[in-house]
Amino acid sequence: MNPIHPVKNYSIVPKKTPITDDYDITKQVLGLGINGKVVECFSKRSGEKFALKILIETEKARREVFLHCRAVGCRHIVGIIDVYENKYHNNTCLLVVMECMEGGELFQRIQERTDGAFTEREAAQVMHEICVAVKYLHDINIAHRDLKPENLLYSKKGVMGVLKLTDFGFAKETINKGTLQTPCYTPYYVAPEVLGPEKYDKSCDIWSLGVIMYILLCGFPPFYSNHGLAISPGMKKRIRTGQFTFPLPEWQNVSQDAKDLINGMLNIDPTKRFTIDQVMMSRWISQYSEVPQTPLFTHKMLKESEEMWPEVQEEMTRSLATMRVDYDQIQMKPLEKSNNSLLNKRRKKTASPKKV
Ligand code: ADP
Repeated sequence: MNPIHPVKNYSIVPKKTPITDDYDITKQVLGLGINGKVVECFSKRSGEKFALKILIETEKARREVFLHCRAVGCRHIVGIIDVYENKYHNNTCLLVVMECMEGGELFQRIQERTDGAFTEREAAQVMHEICVAVKYLHDINIAHRDLKPENLLYSKKGVMGVLKLTDFGFAKETINKGTLQTPCYTPYYVAPEVLGPEKYDKSCDIWSLGVIMYILLCGFPPFYSNHGLAISPGMKKRIRTGQFTFPLPEWQNVSQDAKDLINGMLNIDPTKRFTIDQVMMSRWISQYSEVPQTPLFTHKMLKESEEMWPEVQEEMTRSLATMRVDYDQIQMKPLEKSNNSLLNKRRKKTASPKKV
């Protein structure tokens, strides 16, 4: 049995009545995703507008909806109003009614602003909000694993809009049930493999936070082709080896606190990468309202490279996909096959270890 997925039955209880009893569904498409489309719908009772995500019923879809439902207690995670299970064109579908995010995507909003330069303090405020969502998830043992700009949406246009995280299509439970938790494996001298799989899944979200923070502070991604192209043959290698710089003039006036935090979040070794608690405790995040109001190049750079944005998004999507596969493989590696010196020492002292 694979102990990484302790919960097999994603037990949501969707309404079985036709969604059309309660909502008018329009043809207005709000967005297209890999798993289906999101359309506008209106409550028949209140007339209020909502977003409807239509998913063909599979175990993956159930997991997405189940994990998203578990997370809706957080102000910075898109709310779910209702879930229906209906037949639609002969397929069983899960119909997820969500709050409608009318304020658009995070970077679109920064790019479109007209009221002066985006500042380092504003970047810290935005990062604090995203970190609240990630901390909420990690505290309930969920790794999002698809934290990228297009999944960060504002509820409304203007100052009343709240930034929220959505799309739980790759989210994963990280409960470390069934793995080695016996008292003899104290955290001070265990091998990373013994610490359990959740560390890798969660570290994926921290890498995303690092990339998003970097873009917020300068308007271009950290692993960016030197030739003016978002995708280059060397980029994959640079991501793998963690090579990025803080080029001038864009980074000239950015605080050292911000750079240190990025370095901690983009650490190439997922076991050494900051945890969300370390990120939250950093001065730049915990005292975000006192971060200097240094004007940044972000707005200017985002505007100048507008046509490159789809490539930036695609590259981040690809990097996250690679990372999920890599980390899943690390986690699958049986402990017996690991040749770690600390673990070998421990093996001599203990009975044969269980599989991770
Ligand atoms: P997928 O998991 O298939 O990628 P998403 O959940 O990311 O689908 O949704 C696809 C797109 O639909 C998003 O990028 C966004 O533009 C739009 N969208 C998703 N949820 C909402 C929402 N609650 N309100 C408004 N638009 C949304």
